[in-house]
This record gives sequence, structure tokens and C-alpha cells, in this order.
Amino acid sequence: KSSISPLRRINKVINSYALARQKEIDTLQKNAEFRREFIADISHELKTPIFATQGYIHTLLDGAIDDKEVRMKFLKRAAKSLDSLDVLVQDLLTLNQMESGVIKFTFTQFDLKDLLLEVIDQLEHKASKRKVDLVFQYDEKEDYITSADKQKIYRVCQNLIFNAVKYNNNQGKVKVSLKTSKHNLHVEIKDNGQGIPPEDLKRIFERFYRVEKSRNKKEGGTGLGLAIVKHILEGHKSKISVSSTVGKGSIFSFSLPLVKQVLPEGKEKQDVN
Ligand code: ADP
Repeated sequence: KSSISPLRRINKVINSYALARQKEIDTLQKNAEFRREFIADISHELKTPIFATQGYIHTLLDGAIDDKEVRMKFLKRAAKSLDSLDVLVQDLLTLNQMESGVIKFTFTQFDLKDLLLEVIDQLEHKASKRKVDLVFQYDEKEDYITSADKQKIYRVCQNLIFNAVKYNNNQGKVKVSLKTSKHNLHVEIKDNGQGIPPEDLKRIFERFYRVEKSRNKKEGGTGLGLAIVKHILEGHKSKISVSSTVGKGSIFSFSLPLVKQVLPEGKEKQDVN
């Protein structure tokens, strides 16, 4: 038999009810704050390319259109601003779908080495323009078959390797390496670029977070790339690791499962969740 008096029992019930209500209110307030911050961030990011495009078009309308050279220059710049607006909106949609859990992951078996070769081939031009040496290390004799969402892993590799090129110095080096262990494939992207200060390192996977220095750089990014990378890897039950030293460079790495028994073509397992 309980020794608590009926009054104390009622008090206890009321208290726990009040506590639960307070928790609910806290969560709602946090959500509202999150939404407000998110909208403020988005508006801020959208403004930059919109203002730029407006500026070029109004200058053209104010008479610059009559000069062929200026006309071409401003139209090209306006087009570039609209392209970056397009990338930003695409990234926002992807991130939104990922955060709300509606995005589908389609798993197939493929060779991760071939995918990395494709990404590197695509980024080679950007690297050589910046005089960055991009190298890929793997063992020709090894098989690097994994089971993953190929398109999304392409995006992960593209973002990480492009960042390593983008935040590098002239004559810099980016080394991509692919290794196997008993059950996994390990991808490592190492650069000898500017590095990331420890206080920023904790936050670079947050949406819109950019290290102050890179904000000032000409290479306009959206600050959404690493947030997308993190979500994609979480969808593969994997995670991204990073270590960095200012002035020396950064290492980003992740793992995917190694598939030893390759299924015949056309009989690949399709896991859709
Ligand atoms: P962004 O579009 O700005 O490149 P990301 O989400 O890909 O956005 O990266 C967030 C920030 O992390 C970047 O703005 C940059 O400051 C920093 N960063 C990412 N990768 C590197 C790297 N390899 N070296 C130095 N800084 C990096």
C-alpha cells in the first residue's frame, strides 16, 4: 500500500503534467526558432545572386546595352549569377528532402574505383585551372565493389574532392586514396590547402556554415555541400570524418561496405527505403 497521501499524489501528477507541457513548449519554441533561423539563412543566401542579376540587368537597361562588349560581359555575369541561384535552390530542395526523410536511397553494386575515376576526370579541368595537382591512389589488382546509392555517392565524392581543390592554394596537391579492409572500403581525400580552424571544424557540416575566410573568397559556395554529404552518408549508415590543421591542410574520409560476392549483372539487389 502506498504511503503517499492523496494530496501529495495529486501534486505529483500535476507536477509531472506541468513538466511534460513545459517540454512540449520548449520543443515548439526550438522548432519555431529553427524555422526562423532557416528562413533568415535562406533569404540571405538568395539575396546575393538576385541582387547581382538585378544590378547587371538594370545597368544594361540604363544604356550599357548599346555597347556590344559591355553587353556581353554583363549578360555573361547575369547568367552566372542565375546559375548559382539554380545550384542553391537545387541544394536546398535536396537538403530539405533529406531532412524530412522523404528521399529514396537506391542501392546497387558498383566499383567505387570507377566512380572515383569518373569524378576525378570531371574535376581535372577545375584542378588544372587552379594549378592543383589531383592524384588518385588505388591498387590495380584490387576489386572495390560496394553496395550503395551510386548517384548519391557520386555527389559525396564530387563535393569532397571539389572542396579539396577549391580551398587549396596554387601549386597545391589533392590526394584521393581508396583502400580495403576486411569488410569495408575506405576513401580518403587529403589536401594541403588552408586547413580549418578547430572552432569551425565542429560546425562545417551545418547547413550554410562557411568558414569566414572562404566567404570572402571568389569561389562562391552555398555552404550546403557538407550538410548534404553528411545526410547521404547517414543514409548509408556511414559517417564522414575530418581532421585538419590550419596552414597544413585537411583530410576527409568515409567508409562503405565491401561486397565480396558480386551478384551477376541485372540481378543486383535493389534496396529502396
Ligand atoms: P561551400 O559551398 O562553402 O564549399 P561546404 O558545406 O562544402 O560549403 O563547406 C563548408 C565550409 O567548410 C566551406 O565554406 C569551407 O570554409 C570549409 N571547407 C570545406 N572543405 C574544406 C577543405 N578541404 N579545406 C578547407 N576548408 C574547407
